[in-house]
Amino acid sequence: MNPSFPASTSFQHRPKDECGVFAVFGHPHAAEITFFGLYALQHRGQESAGIVVNGDKDRKFKSHHGMGLVPQIFNEHQLSKLPGTRSIGHVRYSTTGSSTLENAQPIVADCSRGQIAVGHNGNLVNAHVLRDELEAEGAIFKTTVDSEVILHLMAQPSNNSGDSILVQALCKVKGAFSLVLLSEREIIGVRDSLGFRPLCIGQVDGAWLLSSESCAFDIIPGAKFVRDVEPGEIVIIDENGLRSIKPFVPKERLGFCIFEYVYFARPDSTLEGINVSAVRTNMGRELARQHPVEADLVIPVPDSGNYAALGFSEESGIPYDHAFVRNHYVGRTFLNPSQLAREFGVKVKLNIIKERVKDKRVVVVDDSIVRGTTARARVMNLRNAGAKEVHIRISCPPHRFPCHYGIDFPDPKHLIANQLSHQEIAKYLEADSLGYLDAEGMVRATGRDENKFCMACFNGKYPVAVNPELEKLVFERRQTRAESLIFAEEAAPRLFNGKI
Ligand code: AMP
Repeated sequence: MNPSFPASTSFQHRPKDECGVFAVFGHPHAAEITFFGLYALQHRGQESAGIVVNGDKDRKFKSHHGMGLVPQIFNEHQLSKLPGTRSIGHVRYSTTGSSTLENAQPIVADCSRGQIAVGHNGNLVNAHVLRDELEAEGAIFKTTVDSEVILHLMAQPSNNSGDSILVQALCKVKGAFSLVLLSEREIIGVRDSLGFRPLCIGQVDGAWLLSSESCAFDIIPGAKFVRDVEPGEIVIIDENGLRSIKPFVPKERLGFCIFEYVYFARPDSTLEGINVSAVRTNMGRELARQHPVEADLVIPVPDSGNYAALGFSEESGIPYDHAFVRNHYVGRTFLNPSQLAREFGVKVKLNIIKERVKDKRVVVVDDSIVRGTTARARVMNLRNAGAKEVHIRISCPPHRFPCHYGIDFPDPKHLIANQLSHQEIAKYLEADSLGYLDAEGMVRATGRDENKFCMACFNGKYPVAVNPELEKLVFERRQTRAESLIFAEEAAPRLFNGKI
């Protein structure tokens, strides 16, 4: 145990991405629609964005990528230089080391099979093994992102098993992937067999859309949500419409990231048939039942704690109020490299309205505690503002383990719950009481079964093995089994123009 947490200000990140993807097929303003979609998905990635289009007369892919926020990268002029009826886009939120323009997605490749572009949300756990193998065979990578291995695998000679080259490639990658791909005649959406990350289908003016989250369809005039891409499903969209292929053995135990509901997705999105704000409100209700407290006010930490605080207030009957005011012009503080910068970031982001909390017993509801910096600063602010008691309630269990499938958490030694006991955390935060929602309550709030979810960051049970050595062995064994997992060529003759 380390009561002086956090012990160190340095932290090492594995290269990982939290991302959003979007795609359009069959719209005269494909790039513009993709721009709107990425705008709505901005919360999934703020470091870089890119759009690749195809479908105008010369059939050459055109793309634009940049660092920063979507409206900083694309303007009317930029978009007018991206003509075409099909498009894929990507927003990326990576770790500091890999935040470069070269790593901005979608990644475009020109191989003997034609042009291909890919946008990836998720994290491949065996990318390093595959990359080593591909490099040993002479492949030259142009980025350091795991997603590029998918393109290299697709450029490899076919194994003549009769399976599409995309399926051959997907049989080799392991981990989390929701993908949008652009070929010369199609767009393709893919979700890994466990369905770690979301991906859904929409339509507008007869054109097809793919998006990480349904909230993107709400802001495109006339667009409507059609359905989620299912775990293990590949949807191929061309001029004949949408075809679905399920080449992989269906899994009993799925792995949808429950943290999408807790924090990551937008509250106005519907994921796997359930609205995110409704799940968060249920989490707040569960929390109030599990950790009741006598208090005068329930205050959310905006925006992440808003709906859970509402649920807590509704269930407990304690009035709900907004005492924190958020400065919307400050970016995420989470990845600032030094503890000092992070603490400043935490302060500048939220101010407190003293008059609303003075002499009150307050319950502060937030979605999660990662390092503890935010919660500790909130308690201090509230005490300085004259609050009599401060009770912290968190709408998920303690984060004890890293995520290997695409949510960026710090090294475990900087996860407060990995280092300190419950009592030590409460003491560190200087809170009068601390209550975390337990795993059962969190799952109940979704209305679904536990076996639908990945909860590895809470319980350390990783649904896809992450040990690199083991990975290699498992991968080699899988190779021999791959043939039985992949679909017959007749089933998808046009995947990548039927050239493959
Ligand atoms: P901390 O100060 O490290 O405890 O940060 C906790 C806050 O970060 C919570 O209020 C969450 O809303 C937010 N948060 C949780 N997970 C992440 C993540 N992976 N990336 C960015 N922010 C996060």
